[in-house]
Amino acid sequence: MQPHPPAMFIADSLGLDFINSIATPLDAPVDAIADGDGLVRWLAQAKLVPPDVLGELKARAAPGELDKVAEQARALREWFRGFVRKHMGRPLTPQALAELEPLHRVLARDETFSQVVAISHRGHDGFALEQRRRWGSAESLLLPVGEAMAKVVCEESFADIRACEGHACTLIFADHTRARARRWCSMAICGNRAKQAAHRSRIKQRG
Ligand SMILES: [Zn+2]
Repeated sequence: MQPHPPAMFIADSLGLDFINSIATPLDAPVDAIADGDGLVRWLAQAKLVPPDVLGELKARAAPGELDKVAEQARALREWFRGFVRKHMGRPLTPQALAELEPLHRVLARDETFSQVVAISHRGHDGFALEQRRRWGSAESLLLPVGEAMAKVVCEESFADIRACEGHACTLIFADHTRARARRWCSMAICGNRAKQAAHRSRIKQRG
């Protein structure tokens, strides 16, 4: 068995996948960000933080520092899970803004700046304005997470956010299918399981 199974990115939205970073693939819940190393692995897999930045922050961190950041990340995650679960399934109302204080506390710490970079597009050279971030401390690892959550609030239609229908499955996702008919976190996991259960009950009825 792999010691660290790859995190699942099934939500079609990174802020929601962050909520899904604790899941129950079999019997016991597995928390991908149970400690600092887990948080670093998750951020790398989510491509929210460049690998060189992760390496540098890891090398610079005092013992236990990243574990503390992971603890903050888990608290933020559980707050956001409550917010999303409360509001999902129908459009978000302006009143919800008053509940976003924990998110605003993270966003207020951000140190982003813009930089002109040279780009080449289809043989044409030019320049583009790119957003960068100062990664001052280990805590700055929470910033891209806050940004991903803010994008859920601002860019996703909450009417299309729903929980997987799988029995005992805790995963949530944004349904971006044209028919808005998505029911499962993944066809390979809960979709198949439901199909097999339906098949078994048909056989039982016939018998
Ligand atoms: Zn599921």
